[in-house]
Amino acid sequence: MRAGPGLLLLALAMAGPAPAQDPTTVLEWMRQGSTESRHGAIISLYHSRRADLSRLPEARYLVGHAWMRIHRPDEARPYLIASRVGGFEGYDRWDSVGLMLDRARVVEEVRPPLAREITATAEESAPALRAYAAPSDWSTRVLRELPSFVERALQALGKPLPPIDMYLFESWATYERFFSALFVGASPTPRQRGTGNRNVVVYCKNSPAAPVDARHGTRYLLGEVLHEYAHALLATRYGDLYLERVPGWLNEGLADCIAEEYFGSLFEASPELVRAYVGAHGAPPPYKDLCHHFYDRDEGTHYAVGRLLAREMLGRRGVGAIRDLLEAARGTRDFGRALEQVCGRRPEEAYRALVESLRGR
Ligand SMILES: [Zn+2]
Repeated sequence: MRAGPGLLLLALAMAGPAPAQDPTTVLEWMRQGSTESRHGAIISLYHSRRADLSRLPEARYLVGHAWMRIHRPDEARPYLIASRVGGFEGYDRWDSVGLMLDRARVVEEVRPPLAREITATAEESAPALRAYAAPSDWSTRVLRELPSFVERALQALGKPLPPIDMYLFESWATYERFFSALFVGASPTPRQRGTGNRNVVVYCKNSPAAPVDARHGTRYLLGEVLHEYAHALLATRYGDLYLERVPGWLNEGLADCIAEEYFGSLFEASPELVRAYVGAHGAPPPYKDLCHHFYDRDEGTHYAVGRLLAREMLGRRGVGAIRDLLEAARGTRDFGRALEQVCGRRPEEAYRALVESLRGR
């Protein structure tokens, strides 16, 4: 069978271009890589071929575009400006240089001031966490907690930690504006107080649709911020295609395990949630729904299973196993196999055993 151009491009995307390939082929690889969300790979490739690629405005555009997609408009800006100076504004139906520079400007204008930088260890000079927040009682409380967040991150991932920027908002309108500029036009759902993704955490306590009530003690809300920081750490450490590959239950479960100290009541309530679901449906949620339809339905039960199953899989090593798990998953490109390698059990089997043990109680 003859490989069509699509297959050829896919093969290039998987392997990366050979070092000697001409710049046109490399540009084609970068462009294809962008459509497959290989943003980190595009940036690395550019740096390894800087001598010939930096002369090409299109290459600068693709690098700027990649930085925007991993939420670093400050890194993107010089590449986008160089692309424009060289006369390249972008491809048809792609984000234009002008649009991306506008978004970068909004991020800078709307973000709160830099309030605290935390360095993870004495040997490291660059901050592991930079927090941006306007002064308030709430932000003071979060900022005070950040050294323990970084301590927890070190337990989970070891050093060096991926550097993360955290943006704390008080006004929902400002948060929405910032969110949309940073996440390529996306909006938070009305109940989404925060999110963590590559390189960044954003959080706004004051959601109009999910106001903070008596069930949410300050400690619980601090746990939510740590949960989002955990997502940012996992996505940044793994790199390209994390969200495409990680099972939903594992992504949420690991973030809850990292924040477990703050989420005592959540963990305590989870077995009963799962038992009630099994009582009502006669069976637990199917494993494939936990992986691929985590947010589509039965979200509360899925989160409960996610945190219990993640804790079960991590076992005695606790969050200390996460570093090895991410490393193994990068090698296998399959989190199921990585869990089996690092935790010694297939997650489907651990899930069956977990449900049995909950039923027996
Ligand atoms: Zn989450």
